Amino acid sequence: MTKRDYYEVLAVSRDCDESALKTSYRRLALEFHPDRNPGNHEAEERFKEAAEAYSVLSDAQKRAAYDRYGHQGVSSAASNGFDPTAGFPDLADILSDVFGFGDAFGSRGQQRRTRAQRGDDVRYDLEIAFEDSMRGLSIDIQVPRLEECGRCKGKGAEPEDGLTTCPICRGKGEVIYQQAFLSVRRTCNQCGGRGQIIRRPCKECKGEGYQRRERKLKVNIPAGVDEGTQLRLSQEGQPGANGGPPGDLYVVLKVKAHPVFERNEDNLHCTVPINAAQAALGASVDILTFDGLQTVTIPEGSQAGSRVRLKGLGVPHVNGSGRGDLFIHLDVRIPTKLSRDQRKLFEQLRELLPAENEPTEKGIFDKVKDYFM
Ligand SMILES: [Zn+2]
Ligand SMILES: [Zn+2]
Repeated sequence: MTKRDYYEVLAVSRDCDESALKTSYRRLALEFHPDRNPGNHEAEERFKEAAEAYSVLSDAQKRAAYDRYGHQGVSSAASNGFDPTAGFPDLADILSDVFGFGDAFGSRGQQRRTRAQRGDDVRYDLEIAFEDSMRGLSIDIQVPRLEECGRCKGKGAEPEDGLTTCPICRGKGEVIYQQAFLSVRRTCNQCGGRGQIIRRPCKECKGEGYQRRERKLKVNIPAGVDEGTQLRLSQEGQPGANGGPPGDLYVVLKVKAHPVFERNEDNLHCTVPINAAQAALGASVDILTFDGLQTVTIPEGSQAGSRVRLKGLGVPHVNGSGRGDLFIHLDVRIPTKLSRDQRKLFEQLRELLPAENEPTEKGIFDKVKDYFM
């Protein structure tokens, strides 16, 4: 079987430039990579063929020799062949390390090692009473978090002579190794890309670089907060790395349910029972609200499920001034046990009241809905 022309293999012209070679090789490598074509022998051959062609044409000297003498000119390189025991280069390496997306073999390792990183955000769940959500609250909380160790400044090593150059990468923070025709660049496992390893761990933090501290913080909770409200405490999260800023602390509120009042947006709702006579004749009822005892006037002829609105006695608007309203839903109770006198009076009423027993137009379910509005 004759060997195919390298330019033909990569489907490029004989005078193509470096970037056209790369683009074409990358496309072929991704298409025929054995990971993507498990068990496909033909794809494997195409992959090897492309890798070989690229290894020659991407090297200016070898390419010149190939242009002049053909396969014979580079036979030594080609006979290195594709070592099957070395395995195939990773797809991810082809994507990122080998071609680097614009910055192939640049100074990425250097950047990776020293780039400032913002610390993590931290969530703190805080349960408060319903009353506190209405009135607002200032509270101290204890937040466990990591703080940079003062002794080693976060390095984890004894200040004077705790660090030494990484013997694996010799301080570079990354290692390059050959895999068939591909050079693969990886962050050094030994030092995690820092280029230095700890010889003597810091006595204070035992080499972690951080210490766990309980931190006391004052949280001002404004009036009107609701279940799930998040309060952000800027820069109170975990510390950053390499001089990066700390993250934020989010206090996420949970509000305990109130036995009497229910909240809907910024309105409050409660249900007050009245008797049939109060409903018919009207009444004056005292109700304990968040603004103290309020005398509520129930109008004459109030129906079951009707409501009385007390303006401005609801929840304070958390972003702005003013408050929602308080709605008092009337629950007209019909007596179930009557004394002899009561029975007599109801019997008289039965004689005097008109009997309107036609079914009403509106279904019972709509009424139930109205009741909860
Ligand atoms: Zn290293
Ligand atoms: Zn330390």
